[in-house]
Amino acid sequence: MSILPTSQPLKPVGGKRSSKRERILNVFLRQEGHLSADDLFDLIKQDDQHISRATVYRALQWMVEAGIAQKVDFGEGRSRFERTYRHPRHYHLICKNCNSSSEFLSSDIEMLIEEVSTSRNFDVSRSVVQVYGTCEKCSTGKSAPGDEGHTELLFARDALQIAIATERSGLEFYSRAARLAHDQRGRKVFQDLADEEKKHLATLEKSYEELLARDPHLEDRPRFLFFKGAASGLFATGADELVQGVDDQQALLIGIRCERGSHNFFKKYAEKFEDSEGKQIFADFAAEEKEHLELLLKEYRELVKRQSQPAKRVASRTRKA
Ligand SMILES: [Zn+2]
Ligand SMILES: [Zn+2]
Repeated sequence: MSILPTSQPLKPVGGKRSSKRERILNVFLRQEGHLSADDLFDLIKQDDQHISRATVYRALQWMVEAGIAQKVDFGEGRSRFERTYRHPRHYHLICKNCNSSSEFLSSDIEMLIEEVSTSRNFDVSRSVVQVYGTCEKCSTGKSAPGDEGHTELLFARDALQIAIATERSGLEFYSRAARLAHDQRGRKVFQDLADEEKKHLATLEKSYEELLARDPHLEDRPRFLFFKGAASGLFATGADELVQGVDDQQALLIGIRCERGSHNFFKKYAEKFEDSEGKQIFADFAAEEKEHLELLLKEYRELVKRQSQPAKRVASRTRKA
């Protein structure tokens, strides 16, 4: 890093050049969205009349190589650049009329790409999904709040919504299981978990309120995360199974299956996401679900032990004829 005074005459020495590069970097990192090299050059020029286009181009090239920026091509005959640092991976919708773009991520698309590439032993380094068409504003004249510059916040919003939906379905599942349980100890376990889900739900809802306070239009902005199965709550099908009449063991097994599915889901995506609030929400949630899973597994083993004590062989005798 250079600590040369800025009043030094312009000379192409390393120190001077790196301080220019840092200035360009700082301006770039403050921008959101997709800038062309010329857009960035115009922005830098407002601060520094003497900067050359070539310097800006070289700095951009360096940022791409360093993994700070990523080149995107929206088919306009020139490249654009976007921040990758603390910016979640995403796909693009691109308007051919006004060149605006918006960002989204879908677990279903990711899974499909994974499936196809695995079946062909293809090692994926990067996937690009670009959808071209006409944006709402261009086709209807309506101008709803957009996502430009808000992707990270939208990501956190959607991650929290998914976590809240999961927590709600978990609360429903455990409350229902507690009502249906015959075994007293089992009932208490379900009741305790229901209480815990209630507490977590309150914490998540508070985080959500805090997020909303950061942007008055947050809820009106387009959705970023498209997670088909998870959006309705990962415990929803389990809660439905409960009412079909299950015994305590089966109820525990359904709970185990839901917690495991939920843990794996949140862990998988937490690992895939770049550093961001959304990633942290997923990682915290995955850890919480793991605790629940371990608790349920322990209870299941205890219950099996307890139930096999008074009539040890009856179960196995009546099972198999
Ligand atoms: Zn448009
Ligand atoms: Zn983008």
